[in-house]
Amino acid sequence: MEGIPEAVREILARLEGAGYEAWCVGGAVRDLLLGREPGDWDVAASAPPEAVLALFAPRALPTGLRHGTVTVKTSGGAGVEVTTYRRDGAYLDNRHPDHVEFTSSLAEDLSRRDFTVNAIALDRRGNLSDPFGGREDLSRRVLRAVGRAEDRFGEDALRILRCLRFASRLGFAIDPDTAGALRSRAHLLRRIAPERIQAELTGLLCGDNVLDVLLDYPDVLGVFLPEILPCVGFDQRSVYHCYNVWEHTARAAAAVRPEPVLRYTMLLHDLGKPDAFTLGEDGRGHFYGHWRRSAEKAADILDRLRFDSRSRRTILTLVERHDCQLLLSEKAVRRSLARYGEETLRLLLEVKRADNLAQAEAYRDRQGLIGRWEELLDRVLAQDSCFSLRQLAVKGNDLTELGLSGPAVGRALHTLLELVIEEELPNDRGSLLKYGKENLL
Ligand code: ATP
Ligand code: MG
Repeated sequence: MEGIPEAVREILARLEGAGYEAWCVGGAVRDLLLGREPGDWDVAASAPPEAVLALFAPRALPTGLRHGTVTVKTSGGAGVEVTTYRRDGAYLDNRHPDHVEFTSSLAEDLSRRDFTVNAIALDRRGNLSDPFGGREDLSRRVLRAVGRAEDRFGEDALRILRCLRFASRLGFAIDPDTAGALRSRAHLLRRIAPERIQAELTGLLCGDNVLDVLLDYPDVLGVFLPEILPCVGFDQRSVYHCYNVWEHTARAAAAVRPEPVLRYTMLLHDLGKPDAFTLGEDGRGHFYGHWRRSAEKAADILDRLRFDSRSRRTILTLVERHDCQLLLSEKAVRRSLARYGEETLRLLLEVKRADNLAQAEAYRDRQGLIGRWEELLDRVLAQDSCFSLRQLAVKGNDLTELGLSGPAVGRALHTLLELVIEEELPNDRGSLLKYGKENLL
């Protein structure tokens, strides 16, 4: 069959040549049948791990021997995981089997897999083994648990989030039985490690079908993100908005580029709204300062999910600034550049566009303002004007020569930068040194 890469084919052939069965399994087979670009290739084989190690030495690494997994490095490409057919022992912690046993049956190996579309095997001649109707579910575009859904989610609660991630990424519906079980078992997500939750949630947020998943399953996400629950159905009573807070959030997330920092920003940007809500005398809703409350909640969530500090910082800046005014002046642009840097500012513009696209139709003209601000940003950058210490015409040692020392040097540089940005001083060495001598010593 077309589609299995040569390196993987070779691995299958060598295993078969040694008298074992070997099949491609998992996401790559699913994606291949769907006509999508497969990601990592996984192989399931009847060979015990020691035999796999011996057969592929020296390019075999014992990456998960306890679970029967050996990674075979291929020239150029990522490694291929070769896993011995296995059946899982009892699940005692709602996540991991207490032990695994090797088996000689492919069907048994496929039966431990999570969803029917992930439980299809393909050999190097193009034969398919599909004991749970995975192909039919692929053609119906449905995610269905292998076996009894309640049991499968009870064994390993991470499958609940995997299911939502696949729904978002593939645009598949979730079979009603599987969906019901996923809801009734959702509380078990509390037992899953935050790092695992983060990884699945990132995949979910970056999927094409994120809108439907966020709209349909806030109760499930609310198990580990209780902050979203007050947003669900929260009527904004505002002319700017035609959607309740949660629906606006979901639409804003779907409207932004599928890049984790941006998708998380949209997920979090309005969490503070229910707390900040006030009703004006005119009967209109207001959310003064909601960005501050959103940023507090966002910080809490990002810490809980163990975010890296760089993404955390950028997301919090974007959440805090998502509602800021864009002043159409070069001075304002330089000020923003000085504060946030170009990269974050461009992200902020994407956030503002998406936020606005999820507001009432009548206010879409703000897209124009955002576009004009972006043109101004391009112009300021092209002028090579001064908005950072790097571009300032004097350096720290100039000020040391004037007699400043220690932290006073940094303070003086920042004062000068601010004056240049505000156009109160030109960015030339002579003027800056003169000002420094007269005012900063
Ligand atoms: P992706 O394209 O995102 O890699 P995938 O389906 O390949 O999706 P992996 O996590 O790479 O997912 O796992 C490979 C295969 O292993 C899955 O297709 C599935 O058959 C099985 N699997 C992975 N995790 C689980 C789990 N928690 N429970 C049951 N089966 C699982
Ligand atoms: Mg995979």
